[in-house]
Amino acid sequence: MHRFFIAPELIQGDSVHFPADLAHQITRVLRLREQDRVIVLDNSGQEWEVELHSLGKRSVDGTLVARRPNLREPHTSLTLYIALLKGKKNDLVLQKATELGVTRFVPILTNRSVVGSLRDLSDAKVDRWESVVREAAEQSERGRLPIVSEPLLLDSALSEARQSEGLALVAWEEQAGQSIRQVLNQQVKPPTSVKLFVGPEGGFEEDEILHARAYGVIPVTLGPRILRAETAAIAAAAVILYELGEWESR
Ligand code: SAH
Repeated sequence: MHRFFIAPELIQGDSVHFPADLAHQITRVLRLREQDRVIVLDNSGQEWEVELHSLGKRSVDGTLVARRPNLREPHTSLTLYIALLKGKKNDLVLQKATELGVTRFVPILTNRSVVGSLRDLSDAKVDRWESVVREAAEQSERGRLPIVSEPLLLDSALSEARQSEGLALVAWEEQAGQSIRQVLNQQVKPPTSVKLFVGPEGGFEEDEILHARAYGVIPVTLGPRILRAETAAIAAAAVILYELGEWESR
């Protein structure tokens, strides 16, 4: 069944109203008909089975026929602070890391980022990231939509991370550091919130790592091979979620 994240206010009583963009998707792209069923997610962790009626070009309505909890969300909240990368590499990271179970993305601007300044980033780019995440969340049957936060300078991202609970890691290839597994094993109990920083194509500067350390962020190695930033982000997210038991069947 096709899945759609919608704004919670579009559900009223046992009716759901699909606005023009979704109506287009339902009638034109998917060619669904009266009485076909879809799954609607209101980002509450619940999902609704909906029977469609009144299919039109500009709107579609549906009736809620069943509600069930979505059991696919990870227990661990994982925030990925990913450097702004060239071209469409951030799209790839957002798509794959959403499938893997990342909860929140914060694009960051570091000293070696190729993107000039935060002001150079168009709203269109952030909108595109949101739609990449939405599609990946629907495809992977997530129960909640990962958040795409406004891009931050590394400094602001570090102080944000320091103020919140949980374990913060930075992937750093230049010194033989601890592995993700070693750091996780040192925790008194498994963290329920993890933050991971991954640098741009040119890597982090040593000063940035010193700064991160001063903020309590622990440098980790991803092994002896140098990964591209996008590979590093996706692989590290997978490893963290695996180590915390999020790859077990439920
Ligand atoms: N310093 C290199 C490579 C940067 S790789 C250069 O100058 O070209 C891009 C990012 O991926 C890094 O900032 C780091 O966060 C992560 N990364 C890649 N390979 C890694 C590894 N083996 N261990 C830890 N982090 C790695």
